[in-house]
Amino acid sequence: MYALIAASSHHSSSPGIWFLLLPALTVGYLIHCAIYPFRPCRRCDAGRLRSASGKAWRYCRHCQGTGGQLRIGRRVLTGLKTTRDRAKK
Ligand SMILES: [Zn+2]
Repeated sequence: MYALIAASSHHSSSPGIWFLLLPALTVGYLIHCAIYPFRPCRRCDAGRLRSASGKAWRYCRHCQGTGGQLRIGRRVLTGLKTTRDRAKK
């Protein structure tokens, strides 16, 4: 996504378009994160870390053995929701 933005802004004659596009991209990204909140954990294989022998394994503590990690956008959404819930009270 960053490469796309960098490549496009090089040729763009009006930088003002990004003031319209960026919020749209951000909202799109957040919606995507609401539907698909997880990304694969990079530290393990499906939530398990194997020992050097390959016969023993333990749960990965980075993803609590789920094999997936919350995406940043989803954390932002959770943060927004918590802020809104607090505001109601
Ligand atoms: Zn993991």
